[in-house]
Amino acid sequence: MSADTVKKFISFDALPGFLARVAETGTVYAPRREGGAVVYRPLKPGDAPELGARPTESCKHVVFPRSETLFSFDLKAERPALTESPEPGPAVVFGALSCDARGFLAFDPVYNGSGTGGSARDTYYLRRRSRTLLVVKACKSALNTCFCNWVGGGPASPQGADVLAVETEQGLVLDILSEQGAAFAESLPAASEAQAGAALAAVKAVEDSLPGAAELSAAPAALASLFSSAEFWKNESAHCLYCGACTYLCPTCYCFNITDESDGLSGVRLRSWDNCMSPLFTLEASGHNPRPNKADRLKNRVGHKFSYYPSLHAGRFSCCGCGRCIKSCPSSVDIRKIVLDAVKEAANV
Ligand code: SF4
Ligand code: SF4
Repeated sequence: MSADTVKKFISFDALPGFLARVAETGTVYAPRREGGAVVYRPLKPGDAPELGARPTESCKHVVFPRSETLFSFDLKAERPALTESPEPGPAVVFGALSCDARGFLAFDPVYNGSGTGGSARDTYYLRRRSRTLLVVKACKSALNTCFCNWVGGGPASPQGADVLAVETEQGLVLDILSEQGAAFAESLPAASEAQAGAALAAVKAVEDSLPGAAELSAAPAALASLFSSAEFWKNESAHCLYCGACTYLCPTCYCFNITDESDGLSGVRLRSWDNCMSPLFTLEASGHNPRPNKADRLKNRVGHKFSYYPSLHAGRFSCCGCGRCIKSCPSSVDIRKIVLDAVKEAANV
């Protein structure tokens, strides 16, 4: 958080009313408790977001729905027709984690054609992305699974955010980071010097509480050098159940599958999240599978995030260090350990 940016203030009491007004012109997604999980859901008027809870899932589904209808078709009709899905409306994610906002930055070059991996632009992603405003809520503490600071982030990183909200005793100080963020917070009063000072102190406290970052600059080359090391990957993947929890919860996993669901000659074309830890991900129609075992699949997942993606996107890792894959893995597979093991192993080869 910079001392130089415009800062606004909203009290906790005023927040539900403010968000209800925002929701009159679009959908406001915010953390909500559902069963044992904290998920980003559309906020009902008058509801307060659960800002103290750490979302179990990322908010990537706001711009990349779990399953989305691309178009419907009716080839039975007298005049066969394809009907595009309706344009999405504006959305605000209020209370995103800073790592989740950085996750969007990993999606962007893949879907907007600006990376060196290809020039295709994905209309379905881009139209949601351009209409989504991100209000990041700075974390007040880090979990032992968090490692955002290893990969260029931090608990109050402004990267990818339109507004950075920092909790103080009386309410939220909103650091305005984009034009859209300024429009969002236009009706709110400026933060006082004391409020802005309290926010800066809160950010410093949480940043200071984080353990030091591991040095990962050697990771891309190390992982590339271990591509053919079957033994290394067999050991690292020994406990993996290939359940896919890591991919579905990951804010930077962007693979999808396309399916047609039809009743005879009419139906819909869907795009749905896919999961590279599943053997079905690469199963070809011939029956051949280039990644038949879990070692191959884990190598691909880790290698993609820490080696192949950086080689296509200016050295940036496609992991934001949220730690969800570590926290939610039923077999305690820890991506940090795999990357550090790879760096060590490559240095010893
Ligand atoms: S969550 Fe764990 S067990 Fe499941 S696929 Fe991922 S690494 Fe394997
Ligand atoms: S790989 Fe794991 S730590 Fe990295 S962004 Fe995905 S879920 Fe988070």
